[in-house]
Amino acid sequence: MDRWVLHIDMDAFYASCEQLTRPTLKGRPVLVAGVTGRGVVAGASYEARKYGARSAMPTHRAARLVGPGAVLVAPRRSVYSTASRRVFEVIARHVDVVEQLSVDEAFLEPPELVDATPDAVRDWANTLRAAIKEETGLPSSIGAGSGKQYAKIGSGLAKPDGVFVIAHATQLETLHPLPVGELWGAGPVTQAKLATAGVETIGDLAALSEREVEISLGGVLGKQLWALARGIDDRPVAPRAEAKQISAEHTYPTDLLTRAEVDAALQRAAAESHQRLVKDGRGARTVSVKLRMADFRIESRSATLPYATDDAETLLATAYNLVRYPGEVGPIRLVGVSFSGLEEALQDVLFPELDQRIAERAHLVTDYETGVSDHVPSAPVEQVPAPVPAGQWRATLDVYHPEYGHGWVQGSGSGWVTVRFETRATGPGRAVSLRADDPDLAQADPVDSLAWQDWLEAE
Ligand SMILES: [Mg+2]
Repeated sequence: MDRWVLHIDMDAFYASCEQLTRPTLKGRPVLVAGVTGRGVVAGASYEARKYGARSAMPTHRAARLVGPGAVLVAPRRSVYSTASRRVFEVIARHVDVVEQLSVDEAFLEPPELVDATPDAVRDWANTLRAAIKEETGLPSSIGAGSGKQYAKIGSGLAKPDGVFVIAHATQLETLHPLPVGELWGAGPVTQAKLATAGVETIGDLAALSEREVEISLGGVLGKQLWALARGIDDRPVAPRAEAKQISAEHTYPTDLLTRAEVDAALQRAAAESHQRLVKDGRGARTVSVKLRMADFRIESRSATLPYATDDAETLLATAYNLVRYPGEVGPIRLVGVSFSGLEEALQDVLFPELDQRIAERAHLVTDYETGVSDHVPSAPVEQVPAPVPAGQWRATLDVYHPEYGHGWVQGSGSGWVTVRFETRATGPGRAVSLRADDPDLAQADPVDSLAWQDWLEAE
């Protein structure tokens, strides 16, 4: 019995959502990125990728690569999560077995494709892509193969806006020339170890003996990678429960004794958790810092923000409010940061300094020896002021004007604001300059730019 696993991945999802809802951005190099200071790129359109811009790259560097044509837009998570819901609704109509990996990625295993020919698999995938495009306007790519690993490699080869089927009969011919880093679990450390054994490609790894693999990589990981390299991946596609929390922690081989060491460990754990949070697509309200001391005491302290955010600096600042140092608690062995209270609705952080200050300390202290957990309720938090002070129209903000409709701010200054009035439904719109104090101009819900009222009401 030949199974077919498919991996669907929306193309440049955040940037595609921007180009969909702001039609003048179609064909332009769009960078979805925090507009303030030290931000990183959350998404780049294919036009921007041509210049070398990538997700997770510092914004200033990506903007420099793209040059003066770069269009920087602030992330609008509510638009992306709404679009994601609709994409997954279409997918669910086509297949029951869906394992969602993130806001725009999933594994699928349609039972009717068992023993299907590669052509039949390609047709099925194209039918699904067309349905998603038809209903949402968004492009996707699909890879297919005999297991999850090969489906995932296939979607990478399919991009953009395509299908790549790795046929069972010829899968090793397709896989073996690829760099070994394409395999899951083959991170930079593993790749370096393999390089010293002369292994550069998946084929090089497959050609090693089991004994050689064990020597260079060790038992468990080595065997897993070796099996993947030889075309064996039996892992099931299984719907998974939504994560309740996202965390990262590390135990250090020697005690952390200084503030600087603890700060570095805190930043490391926060950065890793934040990366997963961004991939998840939700924001967090609660930040927890876990410490394990050299004497095995465990302490976990949490703070809850007034709303969910995925702003790295706000989350890190909250973690800094919670962490304690060797001077207070003694030598530290483990530092972890976790985010919980995960919500889809995100509010852009407009006053980070304020948000960082109001992160109140609520303690959740767990005693390691007894396992008793004692939850001390959080202190009340200050109310956050209204999101946008009247008359301040930051670029790319969603606005509404009764005469012109829904639009977004292109720029403002000297008492004027230029608004591009358009949505998914209008096609490219015109730019209108208005007085910044025009009483008819109001901030609007970004989700309105999708112009999906009928679907949202039926949902
Ligand atoms: Mg994607």
